[in-house]
Amino acid sequence: QSNSDLIRATLFPGDGIGPEIAESVRQIFKVAEVPIEWEEHYVGTDIDPRTNSFLTWESLESVRRNKVGLKGPMATPIGKGHRSLNLTLRKELNLYANVRPCYSLPGYKTRYDDVNLITIRENTEGEYSGLEHQVVRGVVESLKIITRQASLRVAEYAFHYAKTHGRERVSAIHKANIMQKTDGLFLKCCREVAEKYPEIKYEEVVIDNCCMMLVKNPALFDVLVMPNLYGDIISDLCAGLIGGLGLTPSCNIGEGGIALAEAVHGSAPDIAGKNLANPTALLLSSVSMLRHLELHDKADRIQDAILKTIAEGKYRTGDLGGTATTTEFTNAICDHL
Ligand code: NAD
Repeated sequence: QSNSDLIRATLFPGDGIGPEIAESVRQIFKVAEVPIEWEEHYVGTDIDPRTNSFLTWESLESVRRNKVGLKGPMATPIGKGHRSLNLTLRKELNLYANVRPCYSLPGYKTRYDDVNLITIRENTEGEYSGLEHQVVRGVVESLKIITRQASLRVAEYAFHYAKTHGRERVSAIHKANIMQKTDGLFLKCCREVAEKYPEIKYEEVVIDNCCMMLVKNPALFDVLVMPNLYGDIISDLCAGLIGGLGLTPSCNIGEGGIALAEAVHGSAPDIAGKNLANPTALLLSSVSMLRHLELHDKADRIQDAILKTIAEGKYRTGDLGGTATTTEFTNAICDHL
């Protein structure tokens, strides 16, 4: 294969277990002959004044140029006066939607075997706007920002996703009975977009009721769209339904067609450097990235090999109750390829 046939993608191996699980992705892509050339970028040890963060300007430019990338977990450095790494990525690349497919893995038994839902989280505003201050001693205030522009954008993404992925229903998750203005505006925007997609069923579910329904019968849901904080919580709840953070992929969608896939979990400092991490979440994230690039054959092959390895149960990492190392699990996937 000549270099000109290769698609360039940015890779942030990240911190902690990041480099170990990124190595699994590299190895599996090689065996599956995926036509991708990685541009690797590491989190710096000094603050880059151009980004006011440990992420370099060059690494952000790499994602802007390639429009596609894969990100391992990044540990939030302790200390003040700089922006969190994930927040920098979100803001600088305008990553407005976080998409998490959540489905039961055949052969890995959890309480449910029929979960098949997608959470779509607004990623730029809500309670995450960073607008907090002290009014007087003992009284603080935090501003929750909801805008028409960001709500329409994420709703549009959710309905478009439903339509192009053969999904039937979109549920908007809210607390508009209490947050009348903010969640009220979010719902109004979802309704406006729903009108443009008459073929997709639309419903509104109050967040507390949604939590109860999810733990009682997750098969009730299809695509869920919600403001930032609710999305943060509900998406982890959903990860728990199918076996935990080591299994759940995600993809961040940005302005101008950027897709930055990432594992949902953190850098797992307790097991970092010990060859114990489960690379499945990052691998399935890389599969989302391949689907975004419309490399469906490669995506299917890799996903099948991962699912077969887990279903077979011979090589499973510690988080799934097994004793396999990251390397043994990765090699087993390569054998299935
Ligand atoms: P964590 O997700 O790193 O770990 C929670 C638990 O899950 C740990 O016991 C860990 O061993 C386990 N775990 C996580 N991923 C695993 C995997 N792939 N295989 C096996 N076990 C796995 O959460 P934490 O400990 O709260 O955070 C650690 C660091 O990660 C912090 O610095 C935090 O800021 C950062 N973090 C980053 C991201 C991100 O980059 N998107 C997300 C969450 C946390």
